[in-house]
Amino acid sequence: MRTLFLARGHSQKERGARNHSLNIGEWDLTNKICNQLKGVEGIVIVPSFGKKSSDEELAFKTNWVNDRMDYDDVFIDLHLNTSRGALILRNARQGIKESADICYKYAKATGIRFQGSVPDYFSRHSSLWVCQQTDNLRGYVLELGSIKHIGEVDMVQDQAVRGILAIRDYLQPFNPKDALRKKLGLLRKALANASDKTKKTISQAYEKVKKKLSELLK
Ligand SMILES: [Zn+2]
Repeated sequence: MRTLFLARGHSQKERGARNHSLNIGEWDLTNKICNQLKGVEGIVIVPSFGKKSSDEELAFKTNWVNDRMDYDDVFIDLHLNTSRGALILRNARQGIKESADICYKYAKATGIRFQGSVPDYFSRHSSLWVCQQTDNLRGYVLELGSIKHIGEVDMVQDQAVRGILAIRDYLQPFNPKDALRKKLGLLRKALANASDKTKKTISQAYEKVKKKLSELLK
């Protein structure tokens, strides 16, 4: 199972680029989106570390993800752009296909214009920490849309969650039977090692999952 790690771009204190007439920054929007995606199957929301600068926060986020991600998992730092459209930045050593597909799936699901995938040396910082410091190179910066254009900010607010779920589905076609089988396996292991105290709770959970699976297999 591939996991999609998502992080809010910048930091709670710096908040990134701003839309002055709406009085919001990139962090405000990506925070809202991340909060809506908490607990969703296949998605892990990287915590906020409360660091002052975006750079400090980013180092913490990347380390946190590196400690947890498998080689085929994906880490996306969420941002908004000053120009219009959805754009993804990747490490040049990582092929274009996966990143372009991710951005395209997002664009298609949200209706926000697809602007493609570019290597991170095209960014104004010339190299991006997320793309360079993610252990398996599957670390991307996704610009969800424009922070400056009010119509597009609205689209991001309304549609970004749907767009990210489309990315999740692209990475990992959701198969409830497989998920339940995996859960059963884990519970069986837990049951074998359980103390008398916890045995009852675990076996109840096991029976519940088993029932669900048999209903799906009917
Ligand atoms: Zn940003």
